[in-house]
Amino acid sequence: MLLPAFLVTNDDGVKSPALRALVRELQAIPGANTYVVAPDREWSARGHAITIREPVYADRLDDAEFDCAAWAVSGTPADCVKLGLNELAPESIQMVVSGINLGYNLATDVLYSGTVAAAIEAVLAGKPAMAVSSGRTDGEEGDYRLPARVARTLTSLAAHIPHNPWLLNVNVPDRSAGDIHGVAFTELGGCPYEDRVVVGVDEEGRRCYHLAVDIAPDTEEHGTDLAAVRSGKVSITPLEVLRLTRSDLLEYLLPLATRIERMLQDALREPH
Ligand code: MN
Repeated sequence: MLLPAFLVTNDDGVKSPALRALVRELQAIPGANTYVVAPDREWSARGHAITIREPVYADRLDDAEFDCAAWAVSGTPADCVKLGLNELAPESIQMVVSGINLGYNLATDVLYSGTVAAAIEAVLAGKPAMAVSSGRTDGEEGDYRLPARVARTLTSLAAHIPHNPWLLNVNVPDRSAGDIHGVAFTELGGCPYEDRVVVGVDEEGRRCYHLAVDIAPDTEEHGTDLAAVRSGKVSITPLEVLRLTRSDLLEYLLPLATRIERMLQDALREPH
């Protein structure tokens, strides 16, 4: 059997205590090799950005920091996955684990999350991946051993999933071990937010805006990730990555092709 080799990244930055907790748990798997390739700063809510106009730097960290090979990268979480899989890790990676994020990535959060983006990047490269997030957000002081233990346990189950490459979005409630009420396989919930723009004035007297949200009512339908974590369960949502086409709309549009083509030809023939 192949010994597990994990690539670990996150979007909170290489200094996150939750990343450290995750690496410690993965390194405790017998025979496991873990490679940390994580951003040197925070990229939360910056999604799937990649760096193509400038060079990316990777600083090898002292072994004492992680007890495994680790790099701090000047680029984004998705950059880290590209670098880790194609250049830095000296062996073939079996699974990419992104996290543990400081804060949930539920419902439409996955569209903004750098944590999830890194896992999506792994799938694009043909590797299975887990994005793991914790409801705990108390930064440096936080104890992230529980979500790290959850992630470690799931890596052993995930090794048996035959559908490759897959992506599991995992959210662990901010509760003590005894208060976790099991596991739920879920769908992503609908958008749980209502946008609100807060207008302010900066130090120089210039008008500025803060993008805020309110939690919308009634977004916790049964079977969703939102409902699961609210009820104290670890939520596991398998995410689609590669086939994003909306087939019902495609079928509606196909018969209109000739008409739209004619309209286009007429429009392009008009003098400028
Ligand atoms: Mn984050």
